Amino acid sequence: MAEEPERLIAEDGTRLDGRKPDELRPLRIQAGVLKRADGSAYLELGSNKIIAAVYGPRELHPRHKQKPDRAVIRFRYNMAPFSVDERKRPGPDRRSIEISKLSKEALEPALFTEYYPRTAIDIFVEVLQADAGTRCAGITAASVALADAGIEMKDLVAAVAAGKVDGHIVLDPMYYEDGYGEADVPLAMMPKYDAITLLQMDGNMTEDEFKEAVRLAKKGCKIIYREQRRALKRKYGGE
Ligand code: UDP
Repeated sequence: MAEEPERLIAEDGTRLDGRKPDELRPLRIQAGVLKRADGSAYLELGSNKIIAAVYGPRELHPRHKQKPDRAVIRFRYNMAPFSVDERKRPGPDRRSIEISKLSKEALEPALFTEYYPRTAIDIFVEVLQADAGTRCAGITAASVALADAGIEMKDLVAAVAAGKVDGHIVLDPMYYEDGYGEADVPLAMMPKYDAITLLQMDGNMTEDEFKEAVRLAKKGCKIIYREQRRALKRKYGGE
């Protein structure tokens, strides 16, 4: 990471990239970008560039891994070697295995897995360019890809982090803010039910700061949710 900037937030609350504390980075979502996947999505959030692909529901092999009453959800989060400044060694590592697990758990409550017994639903998230907040951006993209695959869902899952930077609580920290900030709170939710499906905290915050971070992240999720729905409407009509 480049040298730490003298300050990350100006006197008037403006951030390094010109955003206000409660502002998301520019967001763009496109549904249905891959021909061979059953569902897919491409997402840009600031400098993050992410592809999500969904395959299934499809018969699960080996058969002993099948669940007689529901689908098995599998999720793989992967960062391309060229997605970060210092080449990332290809293949899974502890971080990507953890992110894959929590992303699956963030999405599973939204899926009617019981409609698809004995099958697998495979979700792949490929980070092409990373600039902090990729686990949340991956969940947001995967959720659109699941809907694009026609999988029955209770709601879309939207996700974004909030953080503490120079003592300020900010929405959607970018790389420098994440790296030099004091804390990071990734959150995923089903906005229709106001139901949180992922909540993590890395770093230190007071209880009040944590509450403010959760409030900001939920507010960000509602904006992201609108964009997810817009992306689906653009492909399937309605807009
Ligand atoms: N990062 C990196 N190399 C790595 C892992 C992460 O450069 O091997 C960067 C990348 O920009 C990532 C950021 O650090 O988005 C923050 O990573 P973190 O583990 O907090 O996950 P994220 O915020 O992306 O969900």
